[in-house]
Amino acid sequence: KQLAMPGPVALKPYTPGKPVEVLERELGITGSIKLASNENPLGCSPAVTAAVQSALGGEFFARYPDAAGHELKADLAAYHGIEAERITLGNGSNDILVLLAQALLGPGRAAVFSDYAFAVYPIATAAASGQARIAKALGADSDMPYGHDLDAMAALIDDTVRLVFVANPNNPTGTWIEPDAFEAFLRGVPQDVVVVLDEAYYDYQPEEWRIDARRLLDAYPNLVVTRTFSKVYGIAAMRVGYGLSHPGLADILNRVRQPFNNNAVAHVAARAALADSDFVDESVALNQTGLARLRQGLDQLGLGYLPTHANFLTFDLGRDAAPVYEALLREGVIVRPLAGYGMPQHLRATVGTADENERFLTALSRVIAAS
Ligand code: PMP
Repeated sequence: KQLAMPGPVALKPYTPGKPVEVLERELGITGSIKLASNENPLGCSPAVTAAVQSALGGEFFARYPDAAGHELKADLAAYHGIEAERITLGNGSNDILVLLAQALLGPGRAAVFSDYAFAVYPIATAAASGQARIAKALGADSDMPYGHDLDAMAALIDDTVRLVFVANPNNPTGTWIEPDAFEAFLRGVPQDVVVVLDEAYYDYQPEEWRIDARRLLDAYPNLVVTRTFSKVYGIAAMRVGYGLSHPGLADILNRVRQPFNNNAVAHVAARAALADSDFVDESVALNQTGLARLRQGLDQLGLGYLPTHANFLTFDLGRDAAPVYEALLREGVIVRPLAGYGMPQHLRATVGTADENERFLTALSRVIAAS
């Protein structure tokens, strides 16, 4: 039967990578490595596992989680040196993006973002019945190909625009923007337009490129910075992210969100993760070495790649990447095809452990030699 129901039919679904077990069952193989979702190849801090294990139990499961996330917010407030009233907790930072769209968009209201920006921006916008204004990205001849063109984005802001999404670094490109350029952009945005700076990959950036969110939050009440525990902290399964903003905006987001949008295990895990800065340092160092190795390997294969400040590298096959993606799958290496982003000749590989990076490069060279 046909479903007789109006709905956001223009909405393209977010297509996450399939779980390894599902893919392996389909292909009839085992032992694959997953470099498809920009997860931490080290897993998470052992302190997280210990904290979660000691929390688990009947009483713990029976109680509702702390709806306001007092303790996690207090830890985050201390970590960032800001007031807890500026924090909104989300079920992943994805949740914060959706809450922003829900709170600020609607019929006749628009959101601005770039071509090749994170896939959730158009979805959150459409699901909130908002209009998408998509800016052309920087050209292939620029020093940041496929990156955000902040001038082009600014040019799209008019009276109907309520929200701007900026991903820094961006996924799936890895490209970044300069801190000064971002502040100049922010200065030009009307105060009643909320600018979201999505910093899911913040910790992977070299120091000199990091935007001083704390200073900007004081100067620009229309700024929201989002962060996640899914990447460098290695607890993507727990679904914890957060927004930093003016307390007034945090208040609005807190009214829109579900009261229990983080579960109790997630709160325990996130607090333990935040406390282990050595694990973050180790993860960032591994990523640096891995990126250098991947670049070297791709150079040897004569393949181009985009500049990245994240934990992944997007490379250019110079032809339809789908057969290469499929062949890599059969070699037991799962990367991310980007045709859905309008980048059919590119693939995105997460930086893995040293062993995983070698397996990826070896498989890629075999696949390319065979095609
Ligand atoms: N923003 C960007 C740029 C991302 O790449 C991701 C994860 N793919 C997210 C936000 C959302 O991550 P999470 O919901 O796991 O915090």
